Amino acid sequence: MGRDDLNHMRFYDIISKKKNGGALSETEIEYAVASFTRGETPDYQMAALLMAICLKGMDAAETACLTLAMARSGETADLSAIPGVKVDKHSTGGVGDKTTLVITPIVACLGAAVAKMAGRGLGNTGGTVDKLESIPGLRTAFTREEFIGIVRKTGAAIVGQSGELAPADKKMYALRDVTATVDSIPLIAASIMSKKIAAGSDRILLDVKTGSGAFMKTPGDAERLAGTMVDIGALAGRRTIALITDMDIPLGHAVGNALEVVEAVETLKGRGPKDLTDVCIELAANMLFLAEKGGLDACRQAARGAIASGAALDKFAEMVAAQGGDSRYVYDTSLFPAARRSRVVTARESGFITRMNAEFCGAASVMLGAGRETENAPVDHAAGVTLKAKTGDCVQKGDIIAVLHTSDESRLNAAEEKLLSGFEYGPERPEAKPLVYARVE
Ligand code: URA
Repeated sequence: MGRDDLNHMRFYDIISKKKNGGALSETEIEYAVASFTRGETPDYQMAALLMAICLKGMDAAETACLTLAMARSGETADLSAIPGVKVDKHSTGGVGDKTTLVITPIVACLGAAVAKMAGRGLGNTGGTVDKLESIPGLRTAFTREEFIGIVRKTGAAIVGQSGELAPADKKMYALRDVTATVDSIPLIAASIMSKKIAAGSDRILLDVKTGSGAFMKTPGDAERLAGTMVDIGALAGRRTIALITDMDIPLGHAVGNALEVVEAVETLKGRGPKDLTDVCIELAANMLFLAEKGGLDACRQAARGAIASGAALDKFAEMVAAQGGDSRYVYDTSLFPAARRSRVVTARESGFITRMNAEFCGAASVMLGAGRETENAPVDHAAGVTLKAKTGDCVQKGDIIAVLHTSDESRLNAAEEKLLSGFEYGPERPEAKPLVYARVE
């Protein structure tokens, strides 16, 4: 962009054009992102533009320009020192979603390098970094050289995302969070893909969640978001596949940091819940496929084999140790301290559970201390919810349907109410929903 263009560009005109439904040019989008990232455009103008995008949308070309401008707003990771194809995986966020902990060691032990930058909890959904940090000693902050060194040595590392990658997204996301502009397909697609492109992996697997615990409430919206992101990946030269998976019901039975690590380890030992195991096999197989380790069926078999042989569990322990964590916790999960207080929650009615609001379940877990109410607050690693019954199960009034765990007794009543308010009962078993709705390539 020439200096003259910049001098004549007015943020006001860009807002006005989008408000009237116009398509923004590459120059306009680049100017908007760059000037906001540098602090030259005030929050209120960017907030107005974000709202206009939310209401009027963006076409494919605008969305791609926005993503690339955001990806270029800071550093981009150079992973070329790690040999082979590097595959990344990203979930749009769910309740009880501990799949990254299971599939990273499966994929790594089968020879595909995973250099994963993960997030902390956001709203009612948990974050992989918070979960991993419940293992004593484990670090998630490393220099770029240390991070690459761990991936070269063990084949995998999961670290927190550096603030230098896609800083435009960090600033824009913070604004979206407080201006009701999160739920826009072009904005979510640009936010996720800008970070993935800046994070440097060659191939990207997206797990786009749909249902009551997800940003995308319907499979149709999830598929539109997935299609947008897959197209952006192709345009940026990063082959991308998306799976649309169910998040109407939490995955597995555990919601909360240490509780989820224990369930992930059980899954790596071959004793995990069926829904979680099946989704993990599908995700791992697609990552292996992207890493050119064979056809999808062969990759599925290899992933199951890595669990059955114990190789994936050993790889997880190796990764934990390489990140400074105590790997004895992987082989003996009874070492994880239990929460100081727990309470059983019982069914208020008899019948089939016809619905359980996954978002309320995530909210109850946050209320118990597993998530943050404010940005830098510490999390209670032992807090969370263990589900004893889920949608489709038949219960009698008074049966135990969940156990709440917390260090702070005063949080129990509100969390119990929140959890129970999401349960509905009926005389007939509801139709089972698919775990994987679609694959978008
Ligand atoms: N996750 C992100 O990283 N960005 C969004 O906008 C939504 C979910």
